[in-house]
Amino acid sequence: MTSDRLALDGGEPVRRELLPYGRQALTDDDIATVVQVLRSDWLTTGPKVAEFEEAIADFVGAAHAVSFSSGTAALHGAVLAAGIGPGDEVITSPLTFCATANCVLYQGATPVFADVSDDTLNLDPDDVSRRLSPRAKAILPVDYGGHPADLDEFLALADRDGLTVIEDAAHALGARYRGRRVGSISHMTVFSFHPVKHVTTGEGGMVTTNDATHARRLRMCRNHGIDSDARARQASGQWYYEMTALGCNYRLTDIASALGLSQMSRLDTNVERRRTIARQYAGSLAAIPGLRLPHTRSDAEPAWHLYPVRVDPHIVRGERDEIFRALRAEGLGVNVHYIPVHLHPYYRQRFGDRSGWWPIAEQASRELISLPMFHAMSDGEAQDVVAAVRKVMRHFVADPRTSF
Ligand SMILES: *Cc1c(COP(=O)(O)O)cnc(C)c1O
Repeated sequence: MTSDRLALDGGEPVRRELLPYGRQALTDDDIATVVQVLRSDWLTTGPKVAEFEEAIADFVGAAHAVSFSSGTAALHGAVLAAGIGPGDEVITSPLTFCATANCVLYQGATPVFADVSDDTLNLDPDDVSRRLSPRAKAILPVDYGGHPADLDEFLALADRDGLTVIEDAAHALGARYRGRRVGSISHMTVFSFHPVKHVTTGEGGMVTTNDATHARRLRMCRNHGIDSDARARQASGQWYYEMTALGCNYRLTDIASALGLSQMSRLDTNVERRRTIARQYAGSLAAIPGLRLPHTRSDAEPAWHLYPVRVDPHIVRGERDEIFRALRAEGLGVNVHYIPVHLHPYYRQRFGDRSGWWPIAEQASRELISLPMFHAMSDGEAQDVVAAVRKVMRHFVADPRTSF
């Protein structure tokens, strides 16, 4: 039995070794497939790229999947493929990783933030509709934590005004919305293969779409604005190519694609494991006063990239940051997702001080703590998370008579 004294105050920590909030899991098979590619003729834009793209398209149920060198590059590609440029506006969430809004700036357009809904912390369709101006060209919802955004509402708004819905699903590979897989619903859906995400390629990203024009533009964008790739030219004995638009080199390598492809075979199992951990947390932590667990809507099956809890400042003594430090001292690699984008120094400098403009996102960001959540977590590690949260919350809940 660990003592009740917080590790922060010199007590025995629940864990000696820090449990990270997210972490990749690689198998010997993953490594062997990568080694095979290293011995092959193609290190980049070879057969593995196409196979990996097909595997993702099949998994989500989309007609096309176009790989990119990172999730951020994929977001940029999607914004470019939607024809967004200077003078245009894209409505997005402030409660996200800064890359979501940055990709709009890359194209010389303006990210317009709308507030989030208090339950899911996803972009609020009512606030989006209030902020749509004639300059708006796209809506860019984020599936926060892996819980799908209100996609049908955004598609209806987009239909009405001729906008594109670009979904940042970096957290949501494997999630379902109204029975459909995320990746088959929005005009374009963006995934990331960063090591903390559900499938990793080291760095990597993908855009899925059912629209052939979007797919063609995405392919050009990642390859300098050239309409064919080197492998296709070699196969057809052609040397001639033309650059017809300004693109980038955002190509994913065959080395990375082989790793992603190998990881795909365990995606369903891994998402299921995350769901099990989420259920275990919910069952064990629900009774703790002052701790608000992530809400799941009845029409959503989240992919559980994160397990973000909120500490209620009315019930809990002290600040979120104190609780955060206490959890770290107990050996939990807790994190905060996110600092609202408009509060970052770059955005303050460029757009002025807009603190207070998106109050729900800002309040959430003051209360949020992401508990460790990754598919390779053992039952024992999940129990450590529960034990550490219980131990720390006992010290901070205002009414010490409550027992949990
Ligand atoms: C991870 C992430 C990205 C960016 O992905 P990278 O592959 O790291 O470039 C974008 N948006 C969100 C919400 C993310 O979590």
